[in-house]
Amino acid sequence: MLSTIIYRSHISDDVAFKTLGNLAEKANQTNEAHSVTGILLFNGTHFFQVLEGPEEAVLAIYEGICRDPRHHNLVELMRDYAPARRFGNVGMELFDLREYDREIVLQAVLDKGTSKYQLTYDDRALQFLRVFVEATERENYFEIPPGDSWEFIVDNEETPVRPTIRPATDEYSFAFQPIIDPLSRQIVSLEAVMRPTSGASVSDYFAGMPRNEMYEVDLKSKQHVFAMAKQLGIDGLTLSINLLPMSLAIVPDAVDFLLQAIEANGLVPEQIVVEVTENGALSRVDEFEAAIKKLKASGISLAIDGFGAGSAGLVLLTQFQPDKIKIDGNIIADIHKSGPKQAIVQAILKFCSSLQIAVIAEGVNKPEEWMWLESAGVCNFQGALFAPSTLNTLPVVAWPEKLEVF
Ligand code: CA
Repeated sequence: MLSTIIYRSHISDDVAFKTLGNLAEKANQTNEAHSVTGILLFNGTHFFQVLEGPEEAVLAIYEGICRDPRHHNLVELMRDYAPARRFGNVGMELFDLREYDREIVLQAVLDKGTSKYQLTYDDRALQFLRVFVEATERENYFEIPPGDSWEFIVDNEETPVRPTIRPATDEYSFAFQPIIDPLSRQIVSLEAVMRPTSGASVSDYFAGMPRNEMYEVDLKSKQHVFAMAKQLGIDGLTLSINLLPMSLAIVPDAVDFLLQAIEANGLVPEQIVVEVTENGALSRVDEFEAAIKKLKASGISLAIDGFGAGSAGLVLLTQFQPDKIKIDGNIIADIHKSGPKQAIVQAILKFCSSLQIAVIAEGVNKPEEWMWLESAGVCNFQGALFAPSTLNTLPVVAWPEKLEVF
């Protein structure tokens, strides 16, 4: 099957452009042997390459390209399949866009095409090429420094070590993980996540129960979270709890139950955030909306959890808007290397900004992910990069410190 990979990258500081010609020639021997063709463009700062050929060969060559130290900030823009090569000439010419006038440069590139159809047809690969050549979309090129330019350091004065307390019940307890604003060194909220004692996942634990009992157990478990929070001394911090959407909709007087448990433990509704996933929220939308109204009227905030991983996301958002959105960790993973993930997060940020919804990136594990997201305008993060989730106690936070370059 003929596959296509397109990426862009940034030339490394210590690479002289004139050495690149030889480099391209050398690479061509490999490309030719594997029947990979395409085009490599350079605009003085960035590379843009279209690789076309048999899937395995394209992947193998692309993996080698990803490891090449002569460029960095490599972002994969497209991975797709096509009926024919767009650039089928043997080898891969290095094409320096600066050698052409603005008016003719696109045509000069397109003239390299070998497709029997016009290369200006409505083809995603060629639209990417056009955008790069015409430099019409540069605002999304965040040049993030290498991952090791930051250190993540635990400051025990800011987050004192807390004692580990007794598990909430015999069947389950809770782990805590902070949501932080790393650059202003603030803990935005502490999320409490249920952990069954058996080691099973929460969904497996719930799956073993009749439906109504499951919603009841889910809701009632929250009184243990509030009690643990009190015992751990979270003081004025915000506390995030997870609820199945239907627990709010189906259990009678669910919101009243939460409010009583909040008060009984010396907390106030304004410091509580309820996180619900998109999934299942629309199956009984009227009851769910009624519960949300009551929740909001009491002062409790609402966050959509794992945004983007479910099926209801955008429809749900047209019906009511939460205070916060947590972007699912699957979208966050390796976002610094993925054009599609970057485009999706930028769209989420745009509509959240229009709707005044706070955005949290969850599952942040790498410095590069965090740096890209900061560049894009995300301020609130959760993930093992900063703090793990810890059972029956509050974790300490490793705050980022920029390493001085001497
Ligand atoms: Ca959650």
